[in-house]
Amino acid sequence: MSNFLAGTFDTVRKSALDAARRALPQRCELCASASGACIICKDCWRALPWLGRACSICALPTAAGELCGQCLAHPPAFDATIAAFAYAFPVDRLIHAFKYQGRLSLADWCADAILAAGIQAQSCLIALPLSEQRQRERGWNQAAEIARAIAAKTRIALLKAGVRRVRATPPQAALPWPERARNVRGAFACDVALDGATVAVIDDVMTTGATLAEFARTLKAAGAARVENWVVARTLP
Ligand SMILES: [Zn+2]
Ligand SMILES: [Zn+2]
Repeated sequence: MSNFLAGTFDTVRKSALDAARRALPQRCELCASASGACIICKDCWRALPWLGRACSICALPTAAGELCGQCLAHPPAFDATIAAFAYAFPVDRLIHAFKYQGRLSLADWCADAILAAGIQAQSCLIALPLSEQRQRERGWNQAAEIARAIAAKTRIALLKAGVRRVRATPPQAALPWPERARNVRGAFACDVALDGATVAVIDDVMTTGATLAEFARTLKAAGAARVENWVVARTLP
């Protein structure tokens, strides 16, 4: 069996386990108290590191929610970023469990967090594509799982084809921040005409924003009028 199929069966098996788990009264993922049908109990949900006032373009915290100096001086290709949390404990742990341990039920939790951060209707949702190689290795794309959950909850159309990663780039995490923009240049292609569409790009964590900026540039070249990033968490410098 190829790796790709192995990954797919693994994903199907995990989804079934997750569905079974959801049907039963749950224990909070963080404090183990009874949490009904939710993965995280209400008290822990409230205590998560919600992002407060922030620059509306890049979601980095600013004193009164004004635009940050960097976005004023060098506006990125995207127009706005909605981020639910700062990428800090315990959100980092939950996202890690979702992404690398295949806890697919957390996709729903990620979608709820993004919706709670206050989003507006868009023409369509697009998940940030993974390279084919990385998708094969992991068996699935975490951004696509979150996008699917948001589409189901909001009924915003999810664009599934025609947008791809054409160049596998070294993992951004391995690079110093200034080199990340260069690393992702030309990484994406869009074969759909997005004439005048407003697009929300879904991803799990926004780190420097270099990858999302390059993706927004690609979408605007394909005709998108406005591009927002909807992410679960924002890494703070
Ligand atoms: Zn709890
Ligand atoms: Zn900014």
